[in-house]
Amino acid sequence: MRNETLDSIGVLQDELSSWFDYSPSTLRTDIRFLKDGCGVRLRMGRKTPFDDQHGIEVLDKMDLHQAVFTVGELAKEVTKYPPNLIRRSGLKVIRIVEGIKGDPVYSAPGWGGFYDSDTRTIYVIDICIDDTFHHEFAHCLDNLEDARDSLTLWKKTFPKKDYVGDGFIDERSIPRKSGFVRPYGRVNPSEDRATVLEWLMTSDALISDRLKTDKILGHKVELMKNFLLEISGGLMDKHFFEDFNEGKVNRGYWDKAPR
Ligand SMILES: [Zn+2]
Repeated sequence: MRNETLDSIGVLQDELSSWFDYSPSTLRTDIRFLKDGCGVRLRMGRKTPFDDQHGIEVLDKMDLHQAVFTVGELAKEVTKYPPNLIRRSGLKVIRIVEGIKGDPVYSAPGWGGFYDSDTRTIYVIDICIDDTFHHEFAHCLDNLEDARDSLTLWKKTFPKKDYVGDGFIDERSIPRKSGFVRPYGRVNPSEDRATVLEWLMTSDALISDRLKTDKILGHKVELMKNFLLEISGGLMDKHFFEDFNEGKVNRGYWDKAPR
């Protein structure tokens, strides 16, 4: 009965229950999980010279509820990876910001985030944390030394002519093409991989009809899963993806005895 009522007003059970999972006491736990569990510091306010240079708009101080929810959403996404993989990736800081206008040198306006490899910082806009975190984390993982083989295989497997090239590219100007999660993946293989990871980790990608009809995309998802299996020391295996699809990958999932 409860389900029917909620369905009729368009509220997803999952969204509602996860909203109620957040309380002020979870904020401290989330911050501790990111810092002590994964080695990642959170940064929100306080402007830096880098912000001016790259058109970063800093968040005003959040109220407690906003912070609880925003950090909770972020921690929920980070939890999907084994903490040791987050540590190994070298990611040091996640910076939640209000907006990214971009700078004229290498970024376009309207981005949801970016990864700065010098400071090993992921920048993410507070209202689009979920898929953006995975996208930027893919860039962070591509900097790992053992990602080279995976990148090389990717470049060898998929036709170079399908990529439109780096630079100052607005996604809306790129034509859609099968084999790609979204047009932005056509910029280069690195963006292709990042869009595949964001799709894989935030949606029902594995049961999507697109995988049945789009063989190239299916191949990309397989390569990405092989990559995750390798860099996670075997933890992100077939069983993990089964649990993931059943919604069982929550806080504490990785603390359980090795399978
Ligand atoms: Zn990207």
